[in-house]
Amino acid sequence: MNLSHIGIAVKSLETSVPVFEKIFNVKASEAEFVEMQKVNVRKIHLENCDIELLEGTDQESPISKFIEKRGEGIHHVSFNTENIQGALDKIKSEGIKLINENPVTGADDMLVAFLHPKSTNGVLIELTEPK
Ligand code: ZN
Repeated sequence: MNLSHIGIAVKSLETSVPVFEKIFNVKASEAEFVEMQKVNVRKIHLENCDIELLEGTDQESPISKFIEKRGEGIHHVSFNTENIQGALDKIKSEGIKLINENPVTGADDMLVAFLHPKSTNGVLIELTEPK
């Protein structure tokens, strides 16, 4: 596995994107709406990983709920895997709780799945498999 991206929950892409563009001197990707999570996503592509800026579009969005509870900040860390279902089955067999037992389609049309933060010291870990 290798680091895919770091997901950051922001209140407003409009105000946050320019900050990250300045820090990394990179233009963010065009906004993408991910229906299932009710989020707008813009990515800062770096050499070895991306920064994924996430803005909830709805009170029911997990990102809106996260910000309400904990404020803006790092929401999840994401790792690439070649075989996401195999990785999930292996991790589950080791007794680690999963949020998604089967991968779903996330941003960039990638297969994604989350592990349960109760099993991972409060860190929300996402696995991805590029399509
Ligand atoms: Zn992510």
